[in-house]
Amino acid sequence: MAAVRTTSVVAPRPFGQPVYVTRPLLPDLQIYTAALQGIWQRQWLTNKGQLHDRLERALCHHLRVPHLSLVNSGTSGLMLAFRALELSGEAVTTPLTSPATVSALTWCGLTPVFADIDPLELTLDPDAVERAITPRTRAIVGVHIYGIPCRIDQLRAIAERYKLRVIYDAAHAFGTEIDGEPVIKSGDATILSFHATKLFNTAEGGAVVTQDRDLKQRIDLLKNLGIEDEITVNVPGINARMNELEAALGLANLDLVEPERCARDEIAQIYSERLAGLAGVSCVAMPTGVRNSQLYSVIRVTDASPVSRDDLYEHLKPFNVFARRYFYPLCSNFSFCRDLPSADSRNLPVANRVAQEVLCLPLYSELGAAGAHRICDIIEYIFCVYK
Ligand SMILES: *Cc1c(COP(=O)(O)O)cnc(C)c1O
Repeated sequence: MAAVRTTSVVAPRPFGQPVYVTRPLLPDLQIYTAALQGIWQRQWLTNKGQLHDRLERALCHHLRVPHLSLVNSGTSGLMLAFRALELSGEAVTTPLTSPATVSALTWCGLTPVFADIDPLELTLDPDAVERAITPRTRAIVGVHIYGIPCRIDQLRAIAERYKLRVIYDAAHAFGTEIDGEPVIKSGDATILSFHATKLFNTAEGGAVVTQDRDLKQRIDLLKNLGIEDEITVNVPGINARMNELEAALGLANLDLVEPERCARDEIAQIYSERLAGLAGVSCVAMPTGVRNSQLYSVIRVTDASPVSRDDLYEHLKPFNVFARRYFYPLCSNFSFCRDLPSADSRNLPVANRVAQEVLCLPLYSELGAAGAHRICDIIEYIFCVYK
């Protein structure tokens, strides 16, 4: 860290409470306890409960998709999709993602092959994907990172040419649309996460979205231990069922998603207006025509900045602001991946640079415009004092 300059700038006051990168969306407790009363009366806690089925229908309607299977996490959704599509061999994917994407591939016996990302959109670079394809490649696993849609048309064309499946990790893309079309309609299957930190949450949970009714049925079978009926099990499944307590939380939270997204829009606007003027700092923006899911507000702190990303991240802590460096380190640098030929940093120059630059700032409605301005004051102060 650079030495502190003598300065006449007055330090902003730290926040009284820790400000984390997000706060879970929670319904009014009375609404939730009313739903719990129903569960207590029915004495039905899991296995295709009434609320599970109701949430599946409500989400299909909300997200404008024909089919969706609720599961108990985004990670198990990924694993179910890989299994249901009977994938083996290699899958080309991005190193800039949650450990979930790469762990799910590895747990399913698939070898991740990392391809580099686009320097602005931060999603898989289609040319790099094509270069990564070998005779063992069976799938492309794209991630709509920070809600930025992958280059869907180009990836589809590559997949058709090489006869590959396309699976999208849309954990960040709840409600993302391109020209009014839901991004989760693309690919053979798309996975959503409803983890507590995501915009729409069921505490733990997720979903697999597919346009193919047979694939949905297969996922429904696999998520319930492959049980066809009381005496018939023909495939080994897994327990990835969403329970009624989670489904009840989801039903109550669904009404809150749009107002929350709008409130976050306003906060993100403040960040981009105030921070983009700082030397070497830019805000990660959506391509034109894309509706932002507002999961993360991401800035990039480049070499041109007088304060490094890591120094900014550290200097925010005394002000009680806990930003996150999603997704640093890259998955390609995990000990179980780094020996893969594709994990070599010379194969992933853009991703390695981006992972040093990105910082997710607090984004949740209760922060309010005043909270967002206060964080900007703090960042401006840090830039003023520590450069
Ligand atoms: C959160 C997340 C997941 C995993 O979701 P879980 O529900 O926690 O299993 C997968 N991929 C990405 C990119 C995520 O951010």
